[in-house]
Amino acid sequence: MAGKELNMKPIDPKLLEILACPKCHARIQEAADGLHCTQATCGLVYPVRDGIPIMLIEEAIRPPVSRQPQSSTGNG
Ligand SMILES: [Zn+2]
Repeated sequence: MAGKELNMKPIDPKLLEILACPKCHARIQEAADGLHCTQATCGLVYPVRDGIPIMLIEEAIRPPVSRQPQSSTGNG
């Protein structure tokens, strides 16, 4: 049953336990597109390369900023 491994390797749960967001030191949660910071106010997403989480703020993907609904002249 030899098969090519995909780039998406499961991350060791033990590793996830010791991982923390370098920015806010919150727990990290694994997701399909990377590792999500569990801190709602932070919400950075860290990429995973070859099964190795890149825990760098510079490499982290910032979540789309939810802009506050600003009441401007326009019919919504
Ligand atoms: Zn964080």
